Amino acid sequence: MESKKRVLVVGANFAGSTAALEIKRMLKDRVDVTVIDRSENSLYFPSLIWVPIGRREASQVLVPRRPVFEKYGITFVVDEATSVDPDAREVATEHHGTFPYDELVIATGPRVDRDVAPGVREHACYVGSVEGALDIRAKLEEFKKNPGPIVIGATQRAGCMGAAYEFLFNVEKWLREEKIRKKVDLYWITPENYLGHFGIDGMPLAEPYLKAFMNAFHIHYRTQVGVKEVTADAVVLDTGETIPSRFTMLMVPFTGVPFIKNSPKLGAKENLFLDVRPDYRLKAYPDVWGAGLAVDVPPPFTPGRVPFGVPKTGYPSDATGKVVAKNVVRTLTGRTDLIERPWGKIPAVCILDAGRKEVIIFGNRLFKPRWFAVMIPNVCNDFGKLLLEKYFLWKMRHGYSFLP
Ligand SMILES: Cc1cc2nc3c(=O)[nH]c(=O)nc-3n(C[C@H](O)[C@H](O)[C@H](O)COP(=O)(O)OP(=O)(O)OC[C@H]3O[C@@H](n4cnc5c(N)ncnc54)[C@H](O)[C@@H]3O)c2cc1C
Repeated sequence: MESKKRVLVVGANFAGSTAALEIKRMLKDRVDVTVIDRSENSLYFPSLIWVPIGRREASQVLVPRRPVFEKYGITFVVDEATSVDPDAREVATEHHGTFPYDELVIATGPRVDRDVAPGVREHACYVGSVEGALDIRAKLEEFKKNPGPIVIGATQRAGCMGAAYEFLFNVEKWLREEKIRKKVDLYWITPENYLGHFGIDGMPLAEPYLKAFMNAFHIHYRTQVGVKEVTADAVVLDTGETIPSRFTMLMVPFTGVPFIKNSPKLGAKENLFLDVRPDYRLKAYPDVWGAGLAVDVPPPFTPGRVPFGVPKTGYPSDATGKVVAKNVVRTLTGRTDLIERPWGKIPAVCILDAGRKEVIIFGNRLFKPRWFAVMIPNVCNDFGKLLLEKYFLWKMRHGYSFLP
């Protein structure tokens, strides 16, 4: 490598911070790494489901980024990246002008599409952001005073079903703790072909486990349904059924972010996710890489009546950040033997919280065919989920991105 190369990373949560820290760790002073993110803090999404019920405060799921990046000699810029010109190799930002690069990593995660059906934005809550989780906390406090039916679930084209299942079981537990469970008809609605499909065509015993949970906790459920409309006091399904609801929380579809929309040369897919090769290089530009949720992952299954997407969870997001880091380092040091690790071949590693209970999910691959896949329920506590949270927050605070 003759001169010092410039690596620019846009988006610094799971995938982006892993890629940036790993590239810097491997190349040290031989590379300048700059990270742009619109926020000062990393967000540990998996614990957001505990914010509405008061088990976590917002401050406990946020980790300041600057000290971590500064410790490792990475330049951190807080700004919104507005577009990239991949021919000029320049990223434009809202307040800091343009940033040139030799290699660009895009790890911008999703834009949340809350306009998927009429009334969703106005009347359905969303647990996937700090503001959304705090808004739900306030709404549940009001709800306690005048309980009624609840609808929780995912809309057509959603892909993050796991978080919605977790929220469902946490709310069910909260209702019992508040001693209002008997006053509440609790409904689960999902576009999945069957309970526990999760966008990965299920796991062994996932469907029977979830059916048993739904029956044990008296939760009504509807599968293969879309949302036609949400009103102030009901959810109208695309089957024609109207479910009364005094509190509604829906996971909605994700698309790529405006930064990608404003950069048409990247050749993103219609859903604005990045079209990458198995080595996470963009098909359109070899010096631009995609990592994490920003990458397009076509569903490997045939949806039923209602379309839905694959889960782009934290473990594969982190794993793709690592693959990108290794491949950027190889490219900058003149190697052409790049690592190929398509999304579906990354192991399935996840813990589904079920309200002080949990189900531990392991598989040798996210998508079928798998030679090993197991779901282990732990009905006594959610120790695994808590341990994972402590581990990830510790890893994030110290920038130990090389760890699994
Ligand atoms: C409620 C909820 C619970 C979840 N629970 C789990 C779980 O239990 N286990 C699990 O494995 N996964 C879980 N997930 C999924 C997990 O959060 C994602 O897989 C992960 O966040 C994806 O990482 P990422 O780095 O690709 O994207 P993100 O984490 O979304 O990060 C993208 C970053 O890019 C930044 N950005 C975007 N656009 C710009 C721009 N134009 N300029 C500058 N910065 C920009 C954003 O500020 C953000 O920091 C959950 C998700 C939700 C919503």
